[in-house]
Amino acid sequence: MPLQTLLSKYKFKSSDQKIIRAAFEFAEKAHSGQKRKSGEPYINHPLKTAMNLASWGMQDSATLAAALLHDVPENTDRTLDEISKKFGEEITFLVLGVTKLGRIKLRNQKDPAYLETLKRMVLAMAEDIRVVLIKLADRLHNMETIQFLPRDKQERIARETLEIYSSLAARLGMGEVRGKLEDLSFPIVYPRQYNKLVNLVRPKLENAQYYIPRAKNELKKILKLNGLENMEISGRIKHLYSLYQKLQRPEYDNDLDKVYDIVALRVITDSVEDCYTVLGIIHKYFRPIRGRIKDYIAVPKPNGYKSLHTTVFGPEGKFIEIQIRTHDMQEEAEFGIASHWAYTESGKPKSGRARHNARQIEWVSQLRDWQKETHDNPEEYWDSLKIDFFKNRICVFTPKGDIKDLPEGSSPIDFAFAVHSDLGTHCGGSKINGKMSKLDTKLKNGDVVEIIRDKNPKISRDWLDQTASSSARSKIKSWLKKNEENFISRWTPDFMKRK
Ligand code: MN
Repeated sequence: MPLQTLLSKYKFKSSDQKIIRAAFEFAEKAHSGQKRKSGEPYINHPLKTAMNLASWGMQDSATLAAALLHDVPENTDRTLDEISKKFGEEITFLVLGVTKLGRIKLRNQKDPAYLETLKRMVLAMAEDIRVVLIKLADRLHNMETIQFLPRDKQERIARETLEIYSSLAARLGMGEVRGKLEDLSFPIVYPRQYNKLVNLVRPKLENAQYYIPRAKNELKKILKLNGLENMEISGRIKHLYSLYQKLQRPEYDNDLDKVYDIVALRVITDSVEDCYTVLGIIHKYFRPIRGRIKDYIAVPKPNGYKSLHTTVFGPEGKFIEIQIRTHDMQEEAEFGIASHWAYTESGKPKSGRARHNARQIEWVSQLRDWQKETHDNPEEYWDSLKIDFFKNRICVFTPKGDIKDLPEGSSPIDFAFAVHSDLGTHCGGSKINGKMSKLDTKLKNGDVVEIIRDKNPKISRDWLDQTASSSARSKIKSWLKKNEENFISRWTPDFMKRK
């Protein structure tokens, strides 16, 4: 596969082209004679890694050059020093980051190495999120070619992918990448369950093959009748692993008939207004099912996902889920943080045009701050990280409509600290959706929370039992520590203070 496949697909400045070309040539030479287990020349792997990144929207030359060079230090005679001399600091930093991440092998979730991998991942992410994105692109290609590896190796890699990499992709809002990683790992890690599900779902998919195109035409006709032409409509099939997980939830109880979104229609519009117009038109012709209309545009999912969902009695009286979103939302749902990756002249990432992207960047920088704050107690930091990192998140709003993203089980106190540390320490009471509520109330997705500020600091030790976010807890602890020390020193006679 020639480099041209990458270069001709995207628009690169000629200075960027030069760097990418140099990195490719360096890597190709370094890996020359090496083959992948599939028998193809090794260079195809780093090239595919770079292509993955570019297709997610990561098209800066440093990321792509680092992707092309990512296996050079580990697998060839060329050293990081040589890369550094030829390509400079930024690219070398990225290559080193990816190399470091790759060294740890994981056996299962109880393995101490599991936490170690996570730790490295977060450290790398805090330093430069591109390191983790390169690793995801690398892993995706490795999963796509996993059939060439021996069975035990396949299992270890697939399990690691399910336990770490796909969760990470999800947390970064990269739904498409997550779905692919999960569906590639699923048959290897849970072969029996996979086969069972495939057999179960097959008749439904066979029906959908006929039904989806008909429903699509019908929908197109109706939209056109109402003056909306050129809407992009497509059918989508739910990722199998996500279906498998859904079926295991108690409310689905392994009953495929309770899942309405195995196949869905997706309407892509140009504007948010059009999304609501389309929803209105659909409901005019097809009766919606109660409780199945979801407005994730007004209240996005915690990972930033935005879309309108509705399930209707569709053409021929069959249930069908319809998802409506703009092009931007579609891109964000697929590639999340990567889809907005654009560098300013100064080399700093531009803040995202969409709020959710800004929130993902915020989440990464939060991790970074938080890691600095608690680094006097690393054990505790990593323990709470494990909880926070993969815990379900909820979105709540300030009275002005700003979104705060908190772990499930959070209270108004967590919210107050997420708004501002000072509001946290002075949190005297709270209103949830306009009603006075106790400070230990568990918040729900979509709640509007208002904090009543008290003149004096209000923190008490009880708050540690009433909060769920690690950042609030660490701030409460450090406040208590500081103020208890002050308190003690104020009331301790001087002679007692000396040792
Ligand atoms: Mn690799």
